[in-house]
Amino acid sequence: MTVSVTGATGFIGQRLVQRLHSDNHQVRVLTRSRSKAQLLFPVKDFPGLVIAEELEWKNCIQGSNAVVNLAGMPISTRWSSEIKKEIMKSRINVTSKVVDLINNSEDNVRPTVLVSATAVGYYGTSKTQVFDERSPSGNDYLAEVCREWEGSALKVDKDVRLALIRIGVVLGKDGGALAKMIPLFMMFAGGPLGTGKQWFSWIHLDDIVNLIYEALSNPSYKGVINGTAPNPVRLAEMCEHLGNVLGRPSWLPVPDFALKAVLGEGACVVSLCINYFNLILAFLSPINMKDNIWRQRTTFAEPTCSCS
Ligand code: NDP
Repeated sequence: MTVSVTGATGFIGQRLVQRLHSDNHQVRVLTRSRSKAQLLFPVKDFPGLVIAEELEWKNCIQGSNAVVNLAGMPISTRWSSEIKKEIMKSRINVTSKVVDLINNSEDNVRPTVLVSATAVGYYGTSKTQVFDERSPSGNDYLAEVCREWEGSALKVDKDVRLALIRIGVVLGKDGGALAKMIPLFMMFAGGPLGTGKQWFSWIHLDDIVNLIYEALSNPSYKGVINGTAPNPVRLAEMCEHLGNVLGRPSWLPVPDFALKAVLGEGACVVSLCINYFNLILAFLSPINMKDNIWRQRTTFAEPTCSCS
């Protein structure tokens, strides 16, 4: 199979490209930066892999059997109104471009499958509700991003099989949330923020890669699929496990009242450990933090669609 991948240079994308390449699929890396991609996928390790910058995406998508769309500006950063616009724009623009290129391909070279990332942030947050793929969208900023993001992907022609993967927090030791949490724990500074009761809907990196891989070839992967393990945990539990594995304590360094004082709007949706550095920065420069939001999701995947 020939597969074009946007966001291939990212945390999930790199592992997906390795998996596809090692199984002898032809991979086309659609990137904004050829030099970055060349460093990550050197010819000696990835013979035959194609790296394409934006003007070349059309030629790559035409002739691919499938496209995986993972691109988007990272959200684990301090949120200003400018950054919020960029978080939205980066996803809508790339997804719309990919969809246009697919829709405008000649029939004989048109991909038949689009696997497009979105996030469990679609559902918003709740302390008590259980969300599955049929649940309505939330009403916060990330829910809006996910709705728009999915809306762009849904414009793909109906004869192209679309799998929209609502991804939970991806855990793998070399990147994503864990790469930010582990150093803090190693410095005896790890632990959940606030009450620690926030739900943490997670998935292992290998599992999300397996899920995307399966969605490429299995026709039953159509429509929305929650990409989370079936057993979300409370943030405190997650941090306790991490502390145990690392031989470090997990303590509660930031109480709720402090979060509220610093975050205002953001305090009601609180807080992943991954934003711990940001919180320290927030205490140092609270005026800039008014627009920031820390949040957590409460999401269960439907057992038939999840991957653990
Ligand atoms: P990464 O942040 O690691 O990588 C995303 C890729 O998107 C980058 O490698 C880059 O590729 C491209 N990108 C970055 N900024 C921009 C921008 N401003 N405009 C256009 N493209 C950009 O993401 P992950 O691999 O962690 O995740 C993949 C997708 O899954 C993302 O869209 C993410 O939102 C979503 N997701 C991830 C979760 C997680 O826990 N990791 C959880 C839920 C959803 P290049 O420079 O090559 O163009």
